[in-house]
Order: sequence, then C-alpha cells, then structure tokens
Amino acid sequence: MSKYWSPIVSELKPYVAGEQPKITNLIKLNTNENPYGPSPKALAAIRDAADERLRLYPDPASTALRDSIARLHGVTADEVFVGNGSDEVLAHVFNGLLKHEKPLLYPDITYSFYPTYSLLYGIEAVEVPLRDDFTIDFSEFDRDCGAIIFPNPNAPTGIAVNREAIERLAASKPDTVIVIDEAYVDFGAETAIPLTRKYPNILVVHTLSKSRSLAGLRVGFAIGQRPLIDALERVKDSFNSYPLDRLAQAGAAAAMEDVDWFELCRRKVMTSRDRLVVSLERLGFEVLPSHANFVFARHPDRDGAELQAELRARSVIVRHFKKPRIDQYLRISIGTDEECDVLIEALADIL
Ligand code: PMP
Repeated sequence: MSKYWSPIVSELKPYVAGEQPKITNLIKLNTNENPYGPSPKALAAIRDAADERLRLYPDPASTALRDSIARLHGVTADEVFVGNGSDEVLAHVFNGLLKHEKPLLYPDITYSFYPTYSLLYGIEAVEVPLRDDFTIDFSEFDRDCGAIIFPNPNAPTGIAVNREAIERLAASKPDTVIVIDEAYVDFGAETAIPLTRKYPNILVVHTLSKSRSLAGLRVGFAIGQRPLIDALERVKDSFNSYPLDRLAQAGAAAAMEDVDWFELCRRKVMTSRDRLVVSLERLGFEVLPSHANFVFARHPDRDGAELQAELRARSVIVRHFKKPRIDQYLRISIGTDEECDVLIEALADIL
C-alpha cells in the first residue's frame, strides 16, 4: 500500500502463476506446458530471423503470422487478432469487449485470470455455478448479462462442452458477446472457430503455448468477425502495445504451418493422458474426464495440499488450488510417459 497508488491498485487481486522452478531435475507437471519441443521448423525460423534486422521495428500488423493463422482456420487475416500470449489477448478482450452495463458471466470454477482482469478493468462479474459433476450448466447463462466467457475445455477441470451447446447459446443471445477461450482445445475438444462464420457474437481465443509448445515465445490469437477484431485492434493501438516481436512473429508463423509436428505432439500427449488416467485410477484416484493436456484428480483418502507437498518433496511438481470445492484436487499436466511414470511411482510410494 502506498499513497502514490491509484485507488484500484489496492483492490487488485493479481493472478498467482504456477511455480517456475530454476532447478532442472524436477518433474514439472504444474503449468500445462507441452513436454515435447516446438516444431524444428519454428526454431529454424527464429534462428533465421535473429540477424541484423533486429535493429528494425517488427511488422506492427504481424501480417505473415496472421496470414498463416487465417489460412489454417479458413478465415481472412482481418478476422485474426494476435497478441503476446493469449493472456494479453484476453486483457484486450476484457477491456474492449466484456465491460458492459450488465454483468459479465463466467463459471465459478475457471481460469483464475478472469476475476483478476474483471477487477483490473472494473467489470462487474457474476460467477455462475458449475454442476456437481463440474460440467458447465448452460442454463445458468440464461440470465440478463452483458457478456459471457468460459474456457473450452474448462480449466482446471479439463471438461469440454460440444459445439452444439455453444451454438445454441450464441443463437439464443445474439446481442451478447460470447468468448470461448480454447487454450486446450487441440487435445481432443471441438473448436468453435467454424461458428464465428455464422455468429457475429462469438470470439474464439487460442494460444501457441500448449499444443504448439511455445509457451516461452508468448503468442496467442483471437478469431471472430470484423467488428470484434476491430475492437481489439482499437484497444491495442490505444495502449501502444506492440503486437509481437520479430522473432515471435517468425517462429509462430512457422509453427502454425508445421501441421505434421503439431499433429504428432498433440496425439502423443493425448495417448499419454489416457495411459496416465488408467494408472491414477488404479491407485484409487477419481479423475475428471479431460480433453486437455492435464487431468484434474482427487484421492478420496488423501488431502490435496498434503499430496502436492509430498510429491514436491519427491521432486514432482503438480498444481493445487486452495479454493472451496476443488481443494482436494490436483491438476497434473501431461508429461512424457517417462515423467508420468515417475509421478505414478511417487504417488504409489506416498499412498
Ligand atoms: N487461457 C487458459 C484457460 C489458460 O489456462 C492459460 C494458461 N495459463 C491461458 C489462457 C494463457 O496462456 P498464454 O498466455 O500462455 O497464451
């Protein structure tokens, strides 16, 4: 607290990120990174871009990258907005599209940046309860509101909704912006991007941090019709926030183009997920049905925080949330099969 602060600063509840340890001999399954490296073609493109041209400002419009994203998703480049990670894209979304006189709705158990951004941008938010089985209850969105946002699959549950449910929602609320945060969609869920062709009120947000293994490069994007994308551009340009640096633009475009690498890695992750679920269930864990690159699991006889601490003592890091209803759960990112085996051995030892 300081007398120099704007009043809002003391009200903020900044997002607490997962631990990023310096020690490398840990099994790091806490922040949903991809265990496989980025596309070799993306790495080559970054190396190629690292030359004397770095003295020049990058393309402010990220033209080549937006072209690649647009081609891959069957839209035009002016229907694509890019940012430094989807967290930055989401910041512009909250600021430019989700602040209305009526409240913003999102699930009560969801990505914890949503409450943070709501406070930062002075948005009145109503958290709608998930069902007992942690699925999103779409009838809860059937109330007067200014906008809606939810991840699909949801985080940290990993549970996905199908496209029909999203389409029904968009059709029933044509005056309401509906943002689908698809950070984890490539691990087996259905994308809502095709719906953006028909519904001008749907915006879909993606990241290259998960299925494209580029969390360190910081690239995310949004797809929607022109009025929504134009709003994001206006907000971005009012901040003078540069879209993406030269290396990120080059690497991200190459990563989008390398569909073979993308397919290979996401399939490996999904196969390892199925294998991990079987092993966890054998140890007595209850695992929610995941379409993401993580699982959300609890052991009926063991406290979640204690389990996390005991795993940490055995050099395995997983995520635990001190939040009612989910504080007995662990969120475990899908590592390589070898990493998952170390986790399972550690858990067998603890239990
Ligand atoms: N949305 C969700 C649901 C997430 O879990 C994350 C990752 N923490 C993000 C967005 C942000 O990812 P990034 O900023 O790396 O693109």
